Amino acid sequence: MHKLLEDKASMRYGAEMMVMSRNVRMADGSLLSMELWDTWSEEEQKGYITQFLQQRWEKMSAAEKEAEARRMPQDCFKCGVRNSYGADDTVAMGPCPLVGYTRLICETCALKEAKLSAQPSSMVLNVRPHPEYNWDPTEGAAVRLHGIRSRDELNGRTGKLLKEFGARWAVRLDDSSETIKLKPSNFTPAVNLTFKLPPDGSTTVRELRDMVREKIGKRYMPQQISLWRHGQRLEVEDFDAKWSVRDTLLRDHGLDANVADPTSLVIEVLVADALQENEDLRSEPDDEPDINLADLDLVAKADASSEGGTVV
Ligand SMILES: [Zn+2]
Repeated sequence: MHKLLEDKASMRYGAEMMVMSRNVRMADGSLLSMELWDTWSEEEQKGYITQFLQQRWEKMSAAEKEAEARRMPQDCFKCGVRNSYGADDTVAMGPCPLVGYTRLICETCALKEAKLSAQPSSMVLNVRPHPEYNWDPTEGAAVRLHGIRSRDELNGRTGKLLKEFGARWAVRLDDSSETIKLKPSNFTPAVNLTFKLPPDGSTTVRELRDMVREKIGKRYMPQQISLWRHGQRLEVEDFDAKWSVRDTLLRDHGLDANVADPTSLVIEVLVADALQENEDLRSEPDDEPDINLADLDLVAKADASSEGGTVV
C-alpha cells in the first residue's frame, strides 16, 4: 500500500483505481475524475492520496490495524531503525499518519516531525538603532529620546526634529504639544526595521547587516555597522573547526524561530565612527550635567523665536 505514494506514476495509478471503483467522492459529493486529477499539483495529489489512506485506516478494526502494521516494511521510513518487537533496547514504533498509515515511524522521528510542523514559516526580527547610533539629524526626522537625566519621564518618548539651534535641536514631542531642546546625544532616529527571515536562522549576519544598511542610510560603509543583541556583538565571521574563516549564521547566535516569541527580539545597530566618537568624548565628558546654566542663558534668546522650547 505504501508504494501508492512512491512517485507521480504510482500516485496516478492509485487515482485510476479510485476512479474505476466509482465510490471515491470529492468533498462536494462529486466523483473523482482523471481530468480533475491532472489539474492538481504533485503536492495536492499526494495530499489527496494520503487523506484517502488515512480514512481507510480509521475504518479498520484494531485487529485489522495490527495485521496491516505487520505487513508494512519493519523499519522506520525516516531513519531506518528496525522494529524489534519488544526485544531489549527496542524503539517504540507505529504507523505514521503523514504517509496515510502505510509505513512505520519510530518515536524519535515522530517527535521530530511534530516539532517541525509546529514551527512557523518565518521569524520576524525587529532591529532598532543603538542609542549611540551616529547619524546626521535632519529637520522633520522622527526621533526617540534617551539618556536625559534631568527629566527621566522623557526617556523613551518620541518626537519630531524641528530646527537646529547651535548644539541642540528643537524637538516637538508626539504625545504633547511641548517642544524641548536637546543635544543629538539624547535622541536616535525612531526607526524600527522589521525583517521576515527563514525560521531556521540560516540568514548570515553579513546578509542581515547589508539589509539594515540598505534601510538606514547608504553613506555608511557596511563595516561600520555592527549588530548587537543584549549587549553582545554578533560577529560577522568566525573560524570553523579547521580554522578557516566562515560567515556566521543568525542561529550561531541563538537566533531562530525556536527562540520564545521571536517577534520580541530586538537587535541593536551600532554605527561606529571612530573619529566622531573621539570628538564627542572631548567635548562632552561623562560628568557634564544635562542642564548647563550657560546654555540656558543662550537659549533664552532663541526662545524669543516662535520655534523656541524648553531646554533639556
Ligand atoms: Zn526513525
